[in-house]
Amino acid sequence: MDTSYCLRCNREIVAGHKSVTVYMFAQTVGVRPRQKSTAQRICFCPQCSVSLAMGPPPEGALNIAAWNMIRDLVSSDPTLSQAAWEAMRDIVGLLPSGQTDAAPRQAAAGGYFEF
Ligand SMILES: [Zn+2]
Repeated sequence: MDTSYCLRCNREIVAGHKSVTVYMFAQTVGVRPRQKSTAQRICFCPQCSVSLAMGPPPEGALNIAAWNMIRDLVSSDPTLSQAAWEAMRDIVGLLPSGQTDAAPRQAAAGGYFEF
């Protein structure tokens, strides 16, 4: 399996899961034979993609170029935003307040959520 990690939060991105990948390579122009660098693959998880796209432009010409591409993708299809929200909902679901009555009230005893 080809596993990648989000450049921003280092979250593991399993191959085939929703994410944004920026491919980058350089090549010479006007030089024969043409030289090509190896390609770099930079991945972002849905949360970071949406967060980056919604955020202010970064510093640096290359960063701005990547930011514009990510904004294009995020704004053209709601799938990534949905994936980001779903991931957030999963995190919220793990909180003790989301437990049903059947769950033991250990959280309250530990003073984590006391009202
Ligand atoms: Zn991330």
